[in-house]
Amino acid sequence: MVRENSELGNRSGMALVDEFVELFGVWEEARPYLSMIVDEDEMRLVVAMRDHAVTVDEAAELLGLPAEDATDLLLRAYSRCIVDKHKDEVAGGHLPALRSTLRSTASAVCLRPAEYRFLCGGQATSFAATGGSAGSPGGIRRRCRQGHVAFSAGTFYGRLDHFAKFENWDDIPAADRRVIDRRFLDEFIARHRANVQRKMQRLPALRSTLRSTASAVCLRTGQAASFAVNADRPGEAENSLPNDTVLLLGEVEEMLDAATHIAVQPCDCRRLGQFCDRPVGTCITLDSAALQLLDRGHGQALTREEAKELVRWADQKGLMHTADSEWQTRGLHAICNCCACDCYPFRAARELGSKGAWPRSRYVAVHNAALCNLCGACVKRCHFDAFYHDGAAIGADEREKPNVSFDADRCWGCGLCANTCPSGAIAMVSCGAEPAREASLSAGPRGLSSNVRCEG
Ligand code: SF4
Ligand code: SF4
Ligand code: SF4
Repeated sequence: MVRENSELGNRSGMALVDEFVELFGVWEEARPYLSMIVDEDEMRLVVAMRDHAVTVDEAAELLGLPAEDATDLLLRAYSRCIVDKHKDEVAGGHLPALRSTLRSTASAVCLRPAEYRFLCGGQATSFAATGGSAGSPGGIRRRCRQGHVAFSAGTFYGRLDHFAKFENWDDIPAADRRVIDRRFLDEFIARHRANVQRKMQRLPALRSTLRSTASAVCLRTGQAASFAVNADRPGEAENSLPNDTVLLLGEVEEMLDAATHIAVQPCDCRRLGQFCDRPVGTCITLDSAALQLLDRGHGQALTREEAKELVRWADQKGLMHTADSEWQTRGLHAICNCCACDCYPFRAARELGSKGAWPRSRYVAVHNAALCNLCGACVKRCHFDAFYHDGAAIGADEREKPNVSFDADRCWGCGLCANTCPSGAIAMVSCGAEPAREASLSAGPRGLSSNVRCEG
């Protein structure tokens, strides 16, 4: 597509690749697969843009292309996360038109829970154009030609994330995928290490805040009771992290009630890591993040009820919910449904030793052994072996069952155990709440099997 008589068109193949690799931050581990991840026209585009934001007219001039071809290239690169659109273009007045445009071309994830697994193969399906011409499919093209939309080069980190979710990640040999996944985790840790460490330093103060305001909640039904616990925590706004807090099912349902826009996309952690076979189509974006996803032509818009059905289904499938617990002050962004084996935040947290601080625990389980029927459901549900078979057996002969013990130090407060325990033997209590008062809510004749304590 790029004209050979332009300066960029004359650049030799190897020189172009080398320059692109440096500018885009391509990792050495992924370089053998570069041709699967980005094409030559996209490389020329990124090299031409360097660190400038360009309109389509400027891109056309830089590349020696007709405006129509430059528009096509920019839109394709935008859809593939090779370039980004300036945020005000996405969140501002152009959005309704852009969304309508993209409805005709977007890839999607299936709505019905039974079909979410489809995405485990990395295959997105196309959904039909929904018509609607308020924005007109030509809208973005016209604005591009008029030079009103600015684009700038993205990063390899963002591009790989998109590639894994929506494209041919599975075509890379498994051993090399594992190496690239490890590099992704290293990059993820490097990006967030400083903020995580600040959170860890703040944990003692946070605990005393929680002690002063928290109240106990029994969440056998999955319904949360309190959202005001950290509303007045100082200095937290500048220290926001992805997957800030482990939340209970009822809490994320409340977030969905407050959202105006909701969209779902594949979970990049499980696409990249593939350590488990849990569902992949579970990453929920909200409001402006949902609009940005749809604006790129990916993900699928959900109604509130569809989104609630999705989080309940994800919960049944054993996925923990994480989000920013302070969404009421910081705004809605995302709800993640996570496993501990693939999820980069949980994997990073283990390496950084940030349990309790990030993803932050607001609750801890309390096990009432007197009510426990030793069914073992909590042992299967817990990602951290907080509930476990201790080797002892209870009962005689055919009634003998493996004993279930609980170690509160391992609990991250996700509530997966409590909301499926058939005997009501598990309660979730707020971290830092007075143990004796909390315990008295559910202690049976044999009492509680552990101390109530939030880990740091
Ligand atoms: S944070 Fe959780 S839901 Fe989000 S992408 Fe990672 S594992 Fe998936
Ligand atoms: S799920 Fe409930 S009843 Fe079953 S073993 Fe765990 S605590 Fe006991
Ligand atoms: S013990 Fe804690 S971490 Fe494990 S499932 Fe229950 S609430 Fe979640």
